[in-house]
Amino acid sequence: MNMVADLHLHSNFSDGTYTPEEIVSHAARHRLSAIALTDHDTVEGCDAAARACHAAGIEFIPGTELTAQHGDDEIHILAYFCDTRNEKLLAEIGKFQAVRQNRIREMVARLNRMDVPLRVESVFELANCRSPGRPHVARALVKAGLVGSLDEAFERYLKKSRGAWVPKAKMSALAAIELIHQAQGLAVMAHPGLNRTDQVIPKLVEAGLDGIECFHSKHSAATARHYLDIAARFGLLVTGGSDCHGVSKGKPLIGTVRLPYEHVTRLRDKAERLRVSTSSGPCIPRT
Ligand code: AMP
Ligand code: ZN
Ligand code: FE
Ligand code: FE
Repeated sequence: MNMVADLHLHSNFSDGTYTPEEIVSHAARHRLSAIALTDHDTVEGCDAAARACHAAGIEFIPGTELTAQHGDDEIHILAYFCDTRNEKLLAEIGKFQAVRQNRIREMVARLNRMDVPLRVESVFELANCRSPGRPHVARALVKAGLVGSLDEAFERYLKKSRGAWVPKAKMSALAAIELIHQAQGLAVMAHPGLNRTDQVIPKLVEAGLDGIECFHSKHSAATARHYLDIAARFGLLVTGGSDCHGVSKGKPLIGTVRLPYEHVTRLRDKAERLRVSTSSGPCIPRT
């Protein structure tokens, strides 16, 4: 049997609609051998996903997706194999959760100023997580009958430069890579084909970027090949995932990207090597 993985999945701990347990049951149905949970700015769902994966005989990789920037470019960085109890990681992503919550308040205030009577509580109730985002505002607008669809919510109000759009403070991409490494994780550039920011790749590699997401539900075969070439040129690990957000926008994407398992082995090997080298490195005497 061909072993395959999906290393980019969002649960209801951020803006996905499935619980971690539901994700795992879909993963089993799609015969995935390994999955990673990569909720935005949180690792809270990882314990539940790990338990459910263990019960289902699926390999689990803890993850998160950080929204970062390099200059004017927005870059999403996936973290894999981090210690999900790492205090610095938790403190830092906690700050970005607060940024997200404040941004929701500001977006709703702007909607209200445009005479769209959405209640901020209705967004927080619907989101029911620490890491809310625009999709929650969109769903709350649909639920309140203020727009007809999620697409309409984004088109009319939420997409960049529309009336309720609020920019989000982001961490620097270089700081994100460092944060992930100090938590013993691997840093991977997410869906490079969506952000079209190839020019930053050499800088990220210099900062220690470990891998690049070549396979993604929104990458064409040609885009995947382009990034496989880049991965080979820079010596980066190759990852892939569907970026499934559950049932929010049509059919769930889980299972549509099937990363050959050999890439999971390489990823795990590197994470383990880093762990060994940081835990048993040379003891430098203090002077
Ligand atoms: P945020 O992190 O709060 O800026 O929200 C980003 C999320 O909104 C992404 O995960 C996308 O899936 C979703 N999103 C962005 N643009 C659109 C759109 N035009 N229609 C539906 N969802 C969108
Ligand atoms: Zn998302
Ligand atoms: Fe992303
Ligand atoms: Fe994502």
